[in-house]
Amino acid sequence: MQLRMALAGNPNAGKTTLFNQLTGARQHVGNYPGITVEYKEGFLRHAGTAITLVDLPGTYSMTAYSAEELVARDYLVNERPQVVINIVDASNLERNLYLTCQLLELGVPLVIALNMVDVAKSRGIEIKADILATLLRVPVVPIIARSGFGTKELLEACIATAREESTWDPRDLSYGEDLDTTINELVALIGTAGLMSDLYPPRYTAIKYLENDDQILVKGRQSDPDTAKKLEGIVSLSTEHCQRTLDVYPEAIIADHRYGYIKSILRQGVVSHAFDTDRLYTSDKIDKVLTNRLVGPLVMLLILFTLYSFTFTWSEAPVAWLEALFARLSDLIDGLLPDGLFKSMLISGVIDGVGGVLGFVPLIMFMFFGIAVLEDSGYLARVAFMMDRVFRIFGLHGSSVMPFIVSGGIAGGCAVPGVMATRTLRSPKERMATLLTVPFMNCGAKLPVLALLIGAFFSDNKARYMFLFTMLAWVVALLAAKLLRSTVLRGAPTPFVMELPPYRFPTLRGLFIHTWERTYQYIKKAGTVILGISVLLWALMTFPGLSVEEQAVFQGQREQLLNASQPAAAPVTVEGERKAAEVDPEEDMDASLGLRLAVIDNAEQEAALRNSLAGRFGTALESVSRLAGFDWRTNIALVGGFAAKEVIVSTLGTAYSMGEVSLEEAEPLTRRLQKDPNWNRVVAVAALVFIMFYAPCFVTVVCIARESSWKWAFFSMTFNTFMAFAMAVGVYQVGMFFNLG
Ligand code: GDP
Ligand code: MG
Repeated sequence: MQLRMALAGNPNAGKTTLFNQLTGARQHVGNYPGITVEYKEGFLRHAGTAITLVDLPGTYSMTAYSAEELVARDYLVNERPQVVINIVDASNLERNLYLTCQLLELGVPLVIALNMVDVAKSRGIEIKADILATLLRVPVVPIIARSGFGTKELLEACIATAREESTWDPRDLSYGEDLDTTINELVALIGTAGLMSDLYPPRYTAIKYLENDDQILVKGRQSDPDTAKKLEGIVSLSTEHCQRTLDVYPEAIIADHRYGYIKSILRQGVVSHAFDTDRLYTSDKIDKVLTNRLVGPLVMLLILFTLYSFTFTWSEAPVAWLEALFARLSDLIDGLLPDGLFKSMLISGVIDGVGGVLGFVPLIMFMFFGIAVLEDSGYLARVAFMMDRVFRIFGLHGSSVMPFIVSGGIAGGCAVPGVMATRTLRSPKERMATLLTVPFMNCGAKLPVLALLIGAFFSDNKARYMFLFTMLAWVVALLAAKLLRSTVLRGAPTPFVMELPPYRFPTLRGLFIHTWERTYQYIKKAGTVILGISVLLWALMTFPGLSVEEQAVFQGQREQLLNASQPAAAPVTVEGERKAAEVDPEEDMDASLGLRLAVIDNAEQEAALRNSLAGRFGTALESVSRLAGFDWRTNIALVGGFAAKEVIVSTLGTAYSMGEVSLEEAEPLTRRLQKDPNWNRVVAVAALVFIMFYAPCFVTVVCIARESSWKWAFFSMTFNTFMAFAMAVGVYQVGMFFNLG
């Protein structure tokens, strides 16, 4: 038996792969006469049948829209192959079946090769080939063209089809009442005139007339001008009617009905997903509420606020516990080691520095856990979706949302991956604007500073203030973006399309992994970068220290004090402060002596800190920084913060532990700040505003430079610092004017 078969399918459905699989090396390649579309013919034998196989060009449809489509159609109607193999991509079934519809309408003897079932399976899609075959009334054979799986069955189905079918059997699809009426009129005319009936079934010709198919129109006029004129008249009336009633062309209605036909078939149990089939539908229903224009943003704010409440309430106890632990550790080392530089470095540099950062691990862990819940459940994508509407107003793009969230838009991110995440933005100006404003978010390193200052001065309602400062970060970032987009980065916005993944229940395992990954990064940073910077800053705050003469002045004061009091008093060491703490305040004489000695000690330490390199620098800046209420100690911390924002807390810790005025052992920084006359609520807010918005940390700056240029990196440092300082001065001056401190 001799058999001629053609292979039809969408581009990338695997035609060439199947063709090579079936024919091996026995093929020959050429071009169709007159056009540059490739023509391939191959030969094979199966079960005593000699088969000639033609690889048609890949097409999505069978209308004369392109050379490929014309070639494919012409081959089918002129050469009349005995079997047409329609290869469809199982992982993209709905779209691929569009061509199948047209092949069915044309009536060719069809066998469907359901290809790439392996890909579909890996995506959790299973296609029931038997149900599909029943519904389409053609054989459907699942294959994997790449491995050759199912190709034998495919050939058998083809040979069987070739045996039983001798005439073409066009399938009638309904196109809705309006068009069906018109089609019937057209079919009647075409049938009586026998127009192109040697090539196409009448209904097919009628549909092509409605689809405005150039080739058919031309051929119709050539073969029977009178009938063609009548047909075109009917079509133009119908087109006008569609335009008037539905505002669409008949082609669009036809396409809609074909997809409707495909959907109705697929819905009858043809496609089953490995996961819950109702999930997509449920997601849609949830989204009707959660991304609603009015309710959506309210729910979002509520969810975020809940996240903050959860984080702060639950982390309070562990944070306090860790703080106490580090205080105990300081005491322990204090008792074990002799006085000196090494002990000072260990306590003030290492423990206060790293401990200050590690103390916030529970807080950060809870925050990351909350974010992991939002992310894993699919809600974070909805946040981005809703923010998109807002972002357009400020000259940003929907794709800017993720970089903002990554940088800490909800809380506790990092601007470094945030800056990198801007790569998804295609418009250079929108990208630059995003890149320059993501560092305004409250990254994980700023969180401890926020937590410290809010804890010290606004302990009445921490979650609420945390929420407010997060909102402030967004407002400032968006306004800054608007400013940039209407000055240095002016330009038109670009459109944005986003797909929302279905909601899913996060797994506990996934949540823990996400939480741990991020927390571990924070801990690692504290252990390495922060440790180094903390020790370096300790050195800057310790050296050169006081000169021998200056030390002698304080020693003189101490001796004077001791001589003036009872010589028989308990031996008092230079370490008066620590001793003093052990003295019961009720024992009036000794206690007051110890206190006075402690004051001298403290004055000495403060003088030493002021005289240190960092102290001199901080003091030099004071004349300016006073405008925002920052003293020289805060200045040291802020400069240190440029190295890494975490350093701010540890440096404040070191600076304030050196000049301790307290009789208690190792008091937490929170309490020291509350007691310090230089600090109050207004200063705290001014400091927070400055810390939130001034120059990004060094690593981020390098990253900005890498992603754009050093010019922009430098711009970011100066622009942010000036802006932040102006805001801090504003807060401080207004606050002090109204006496809010
Ligand atoms: P054509 O455009 O229809 O000729 O498609 P190709 O034959 O060039 O195939 C497109 C891509 O799909 C190639 O990378 C093939 O390797 C791959 N492919 C084809 N069939 C299969 C299959 O059954 N399974 C998998 N996993 N990949 C396939
Ligand atoms: Mg190909």
